[in-house]
Formats: sequence, structure tokens, C-alpha cells
Amino acid sequence: MENIDLAIIGAGPAGLSAATYGARGGLRTIVFEKNIVGGQITLTAEIENYPGFADIQSGYDLVEKMQQQAEKFGAVIKEESVESISIEGHNKVIKTDQNTYEAKVVIYATGASPRKLDVPGEIEYTGRGVSYCATCDGALYRNKVVAVIGGGDSAIEEAMFLTKFASKVYIIHRRDQLRAVHTIQQKAFDNPKIELVLDSVVREVKGDQQVRTVSIENVKSKALSELNVDGVFVYVGIIPNSDLVKDLLDLDKAGFVVTDVDMQTKIPGFYAVGDIRQKSLRQVVTATSDGAIAAFLAEKWLNE
Ligand code: NAP
Repeated sequence: MENIDLAIIGAGPAGLSAATYGARGGLRTIVFEKNIVGGQITLTAEIENYPGFADIQSGYDLVEKMQQQAEKFGAVIKEESVESISIEGHNKVIKTDQNTYEAKVVIYATGASPRKLDVPGEIEYTGRGVSYCATCDGALYRNKVVAVIGGGDSAIEEAMFLTKFASKVYIIHRRDQLRAVHTIQQKAFDNPKIELVLDSVVREVKGDQQVRTVSIENVKSKALSELNVDGVFVYVGIIPNSDLVKDLLDLDKAGFVVTDVDMQTKIPGFYAVGDIRQKSLRQVVTATSDGAIAAFLAEKWLNE
């Protein structure tokens, strides 16, 4: 069993920010990450609204700087998958696939994962035309036709990114109005490569070795049609990665962790930060802010 001050679970922007503040504050800090450092933001092609970075950054580049900064102050990032968390008095016992740790404070920063469309063909064609990451796969669709599913900020921003490669980008959205903020919407409306297919849902993804078509239904007229596409990029929202804490913490109906304004959950010394938290704005800037607040208060709580 290894004893540490601060265990941060998840190395996205929220977790890395908490790591920087925690380690800089003198706490022996370990960040656990079971996938890749950076989380969802590594799937984001372009970030243009993170304060201080006027030039567009890729999610990957931004998070790499955050990792370097956290490590500079002494935070240790471990590629271990946390299997369970239990409470022992004031301490928290974290079992990973490789070791057991006892931490005085936990900052839970596991973020969220892309929601699936849940239609026939989606799983079958994942990696053969269906993708959840325009940054990773967009370049494969040079001069090809792709569809983006969803109407939120992610769908519209990633559709814009895909126009750099694809000859045409359909945005298929289930309502007659997009959810994305106005400024993002306007960029899509002004882009001649983008065609909106509104009031429409995907019923099936079809193909041979690769995706060839999506079957769509107009939800108002009930008319069915097929769109010829080479790729389908799914951006229909996120689901919280809250499985590990579902029996420990209060979750809202959608599964996000409920905290107070100080990121404190109902367990003393147990904080939740970033996209996993019930909140109204999920952005890199709010994730890093959450992380800073939690680590600052964790240090204060430990000193008291
Ligand atoms: P989101 O805002 O939840 O949008 C999800 C979209 O998918 C909505 O348009 C929704 O339709 C649609 N949808 C949901 N389930 C569907 C289904 N089963 N079939 C078809 N369509 C479905 O998710 P997001 O765009 O991934 O964004 C997540 C969070 O990150 C948001 O808080 C967003 O603001 C933030 N974000 C911010 C930026 C930025 O500021 N630059 C960029 C990316 C993401 P309805 O509209 O009908 O519900």
C-alpha cells in the first residue's frame, strides 16, 4: 500500500489542473489515467476559446502543455486503471489494476465519453467509416462526403474542421434548430461545404467493407431516405464516467456528480471536477478552474 496526499482520478484538463495546483502546493500527488492523458479534449481538433492562447491550439497540444506543467511541479502520472475507491475513516483507499494506494484526498476527474447513436450498423462500421473523432480520422476523408450527427457545439465545430478535407459535410440533426451557440452556428451556415439535414434521425448505417449510406427518417413527414456518404462522425453528446462512484456520491438523473460550489462532494476530502460534475458549462476553461479550486481547498482541508 502506497500512502499519498492527493489522488486525482483522470488526466484531462480538470485533473491536470488539480495536479498542478496540488503538487505546487506541496501535496504528494498522483494522477491515475487508464486511457490516454488528455481525455476528451484530445479528440478536439481546434480550441480557439481557451484564454491566453489566441492562436488555435489542437486539444492534444494544449493538454500536453498542461501535463508538462503538472509534472514540473512534481505530480506523478500513472497509467493505471482505478478499479475501486473505498472510504476508511478520513482516508480513501484506491485499488488500481496494479497497486493499492491510501490517499488523504481524492479529486475525481474522470470526465465523460461520447454517447453512441445506438442504431444498426454503428458498432459494425466503427473504424470502417463510423468515427467519434474528427481530429483522428478527418484526414482519411479528403475529397469525400461525410455526415456529422448532432446539433451541439461539438457536432458543428467538428463539422467545420471536416470541411478542410471533405468535399461535402452533411449535418444531420433531429430538430429544426441547432443546439450549438450562435457564433458557432453562424460559421456553419456560412460554409458552402456544409449542408444541414434538419428534423432528421439516422435509422441505420449501411455499407459493404466501408460505410456507403446512412438511412435517415424525417421526424415530421416520416419520410425515409438514404444519403450516400463515405464517413459518419457521431457527436450526440456525452455520458458521464461515474460508474466508480455511483454508490459513494450523489449523482444527478443523468449520472453527473453533484458537488457544492467548492467542488466538494458529500464525502469530506472527496472532490469532483470537470465534465463529470453537474454544471452548466462544460469547457476546458471551466474544467481547469474546477481543478484549481478543488486542489486549493483540498490543501486547506488537509491543513485544518
Ligand atoms: P450536447 O451539447 O449535449 O449536444 C448533443 C447534440 O446531440 C444535441 O444537438 C442533441 O440534440 C443531439 N442528440 C443527442 N442524442 C441524440 C440521439 N440519440 N440522436 C440524435 N441526436 C442526438 O453535446 P456536445 O455537443 O458533445 O457538447 C458537450 C458539452 O461540451 C456541451 O456543454 C458543450 O457546450 C461543450 N462544448 C463546448 C465547445 C466550445 O465551447 N467550443 C465545443 C464542444 C463542446 P438536441 O439538441 O435535440 O438535444
